[in-house]
Amino acid sequence: MFISVSKELQDLVPYKAGKPIKEAKRETGFEKIIKLASNENPLGLSKKVEQFLQQALSNGFRYPDPSAYDLRQALGKYYSISPENIAVGNGSNELIDLLVRVFCDPREPYQAVLTSESAFVAYEVCAKANRIKFIQTPMTADYKFDLKEMKKMALEQKPRLIFIANPNNPTGTYVSHNELEEFLRETESLKDTLIVLDEAYYEYVQAADYPKSFELQKEFPRLVILRTMSKAFSLAGFRLGALFADISIIEWINKVRLPFNVNSLAQQATVIALSDKDHIERSVRLNNEGLNYLYTELKRLKIKYWPSQTNFILLELPQVTQKVYERLLQQGVIVRPVLNYNLPHCLRVSVGLPEENQFFIKCLEKSIIWEMQGE
Ligand SMILES: *Cc1c(COP(=O)(O)O)cnc(C)c1O
Repeated sequence: MFISVSKELQDLVPYKAGKPIKEAKRETGFEKIIKLASNENPLGLSKKVEQFLQQALSNGFRYPDPSAYDLRQALGKYYSISPENIAVGNGSNELIDLLVRVFCDPREPYQAVLTSESAFVAYEVCAKANRIKFIQTPMTADYKFDLKEMKKMALEQKPRLIFIANPNNPTGTYVSHNELEEFLRETESLKDTLIVLDEAYYEYVQAADYPKSFELQKEFPRLVILRTMSKAFSLAGFRLGALFADISIIEWINKVRLPFNVNSLAQQATVIALSDKDHIERSVRLNNEGLNYLYTELKRLKIKYWPSQTNFILLELPQVTQKVYERLLQQGVIVRPVLNYNLPHCLRVSVGLPEENQFFIKCLEKSIIWEMQGE
């Protein structure tokens, strides 16, 4: 290009989202496409949210509430947290970006963002887009965040932000309460470092030793917790993320964020989605059944997978992954290659409705047979 940009931006690879259904329809000519590529809730909108939306549009000429008062009240009640300790954003992605913009100074060469390799990609994009040094430690052999290595690097490099995706996307693995508590204790000397726990899949987690993060936050006020409405709450298209932290952190974020960063429909839809407990319960139950079905079938097909605490599974294939991805697409199934996460032999598959999961397995089996026969 004819115009220069900083080194960090030259390194950036544009975010590659899951292929949209319309695009797959255009490319394959199929009417029926199933998308298991973006970890959305296959049940769709909560019926309560859908009913509300039909009459909510007429208020669209008004600016949204810049303080998101009702929404923060509702979130506070739902999570038993004071609304003063909550900030909301245009998806948790915006909150990740805000944390970097507020707490890392690009003029200071030693200020860094630390996370693990194969962590959710937004941390890297936001760090580099803001010209912040980005550092990573390797995953453990079983694809978990290596908190021991992260601790060593943290004590050495004193990053401003440490991102822990728990459970992580795209691996579906998690760190336990005790592991996290030990990490927080051992990094307590880093007074200018925030530890950001991204719990986007919180509602889906089944593990008994999963961290009780709000409890830990009471003891470790430098712990920041992120949740999202994009997954179990079925509101990915509305864009709503929530950040829970010490009031001083919330105040800094409020100074820097755009005044109307969360639109009015997202604010109101979230209040209603939080009240629809039945929808959440159904979503989690469906997900557990889907995971169990997929585990059984993947075992039958002798395909390696990582047990997941989320609404997706990471698979490892002996074949060239891109080929299998394309073969699935030819049959009308969109999944997610994870080359950009440095996992070239893996595919990430979201849990769908029972018939979608069955169709995926049928197509996967065919794709693998075709690949083996070299057709
Ligand atoms: C999906 C996901 C999010 C959610 O991002 P939004 O911007 O809230 O849609 C955040 N973190 C992780 C690890 C995710 O997988």
